Amino acid sequence: MRCPFCGKFDSEVLESRVVEGGEAIRRRRECSRCKKRFTTFEKVRTSVLWVIKKDGKREFFDREKVKRGILRAIEKRPISLEAMEEIVNEVEREMLRKSSEEVSTKEIGQAVLTKLKKIDKVAWLRFASVYLEFTGLSDFAKAIRKG
Ligand SMILES: [Zn+2]
Repeated sequence: MRCPFCGKFDSEVLESRVVEGGEAIRRRRECSRCKKRFTTFEKVRTSVLWVIKKDGKREFFDREKVKRGILRAIEKRPISLEAMEEIVNEVEREMLRKSSEEVSTKEIGQAVLTKLKKIDKVAWLRFASVYLEFTGLSDFAKAIRKG
């Protein structure tokens, strides 16, 4: 953790305390260079993934929503529900790995597209057509060429 006073990346933990009913840890640190002290918080990150929608509104990442979108795309396709669950899991993991706590619906859509493409081209095209909101056939053709 970078020292807020001198910017050095090396500090010693003087004290660790579990706070907020066990959901966070507060650490008192001392910078190894300037010897100033500061406090850091460590918190469990489970539901703090925010999704920024096209209209700019924020909402919590919702697995079910992602699933519904994929379900529509894989209808009558030879894709098992397990495979679909796995896509959702992977997408969620990818989003949580990002350094930001905010992702856009676009990023989620792109992640789903990448995975669907590997499994089933028809499902991929269906998802793309909904998600990319094609305004015309030329857009669609463009996306196919690009993909
Ligand atoms: Zn320092």
